[in-house]
This record gives sequence, structure tokens and C-alpha cells, in this order.
Amino acid sequence: MTLSKNEERRLEKKILTQSDILYFRRQYGKRFIRALRSVEEGRVFRYDFFPSDTKTWIVKGKRNEYVVIPETFCTCRDFYQAVVIAREATMCYHIMATTIAKVRDSFSIIKSNDTARRSFFARWRKIK
Ligand SMILES: [Zn+2]
Repeated sequence: MTLSKNEERRLEKKILTQSDILYFRRQYGKRFIRALRSVEEGRVFRYDFFPSDTKTWIVKGKRNEYVVIPETFCTCRDFYQAVVIAREATMCYHIMATTIAKVRDSFSIIKSNDTARRSFFARWRKIK
């Protein structure tokens, strides 16, 4: 999801108007609504691992946690099926949520270390 400058400005606002929401919904479908909700519910996280200083974006869904590479990749089934296989969408709602969270500066940062990173990834890397 690459936003135009105008879209970024709209998303940056503290409170989205009804017309903003309609616009994004028309542009990006119902995935936008789910994405916005997950940002508002505080389900977007950036894990910062040290000493390597690598960062990993995670979006928590109802049951699972998904690894997101912003604008590029997600470990969820929707990404695999709708984006990679069927090519009917350019992104899942987790990728969209990460984009929104970054623009709105609305995500939690969790600091951890590289040893813990290995066990996190054992859990995260599966397609769910
Ligand atoms: Zn996803």
C-alpha cells in the first residue's frame, strides 16, 4: 500500500471525518475498515531487537499474530490467497494497518533481544 501525499495528509489527522473514511473505503475496500480498527485497538506492534537493531512489525488478529514487511509481505492466509495466488488485492488488512499505524504514529514498541527473537520467529513465521 503506497499512499499518495494527499492520502497521507488525510490519514495523519487526529480524527478522521466520515468523508475520509468513505474515501478510503471506496479506494481500498473493507480491508481498510479492518485495518483502521486494528490500529485504533492498539494491535500494531514494532519489535526492536538488540543488539542487531532489527525491527519487526507485528499485527495481532483475533487468534494469531502476523509478521508484516511494510508495503510488501504478510504471513496471513489472505495475503497468500488474495494477493499472491488470486491477485485480486494488492495487500491484506495487516499490511494496510501497518501503513496506517506508521502514518498516524500509532503503534506500540516492544524492545527485546536477538536471543528472544529466535523464539518469536519460531512462532511467527508460519502462514496462518
Ligand atoms: Zn496479512
